Amino acid sequence: MPKKKPKLAVWKFTSCDGCQLSLLYLEDELLELAECVEIAYFPEASRRRVPGPYDISLVEGSVSLPEHLEQVQRVRRLSKVLIAFGTCATSGGIQALRNFTAVEDYARLVYERPELIPVLAESTPISQHVPVDLELQGCPPNRAQVVAAVAACLHGAPPPRTPASVCLECKRAGHICVLVSRGLPCLGPVTQAGCGALCPGWHRPCYGCFGPKETPKTSSLARWFTERLGAKEAELVRAFRLFYANAPAFRLESEAHEEPPRPG
Ligand code: SF4
Ligand code: SF4
Repeated sequence: MPKKKPKLAVWKFTSCDGCQLSLLYLEDELLELAECVEIAYFPEASRRRVPGPYDISLVEGSVSLPEHLEQVQRVRRLSKVLIAFGTCATSGGIQALRNFTAVEDYARLVYERPELIPVLAESTPISQHVPVDLELQGCPPNRAQVVAAVAACLHGAPPPRTPASVCLECKRAGHICVLVSRGLPCLGPVTQAGCGALCPGWHRPCYGCFGPKETPKTSSLARWFTERLGAKEAELVRAFRLFYANAPAFRLESEAHEEPPRPG
């Protein structure tokens, strides 16, 4: 009798679907993946829905709607291993920009009847609601990281993690540093490695879409931006408040440069 394959499920919360697409863009590896696991639940890719429980769940997106609060608990109950993947699932995503203001202020700008938009006041990562076994940063995560993470789960190996910054990938690739040589405000020194230093490779600064690295020295980089590049406080707020605005290290740094509210 053929051995039963572990069941893989892919879930979506608030997101742009880009992380799920990075799975579909696996191309050749997708066939190999399908040989190792049963793709049991993946609505973005297939109408086939095999009931849980599931051995591995990949979860994309942030918790930002009232119904998500119950759904994320259900996903956790159904999943032996839960991997949150992508910026939204691991930090709250760009939609977490609303965490810095009253959500009604945004809703009023976009919708005629904002009271009909049932959203939570904040967009939050999956780990804020349920225990998560592994987080893969990136907007979207590098597809090789996704394969490595699933393979590690299947073999009971420790999850892959490179405690390095994008700068290290720049050095490995032989890119000329855009911060030092061109004076561009690059977040590479405080950003988690994983993308292969894509943007500096195209002479662009890193915008931090892989989120804070371990122990990021954000205040040192902010001081460099101010003293060497002449950055203003508002520019520092914007630099740290983008893809990973809600990640504690970037959040604290952006708030440190915010103008205090005017009295009255
Ligand atoms: S370009 Fe950016 S990521 Fe690359 S070495 Fe310079 S500061 Fe680091
Ligand atoms: S260089 Fe920075 S912004 Fe560009 S892909 Fe890598 S982490 Fe994202």
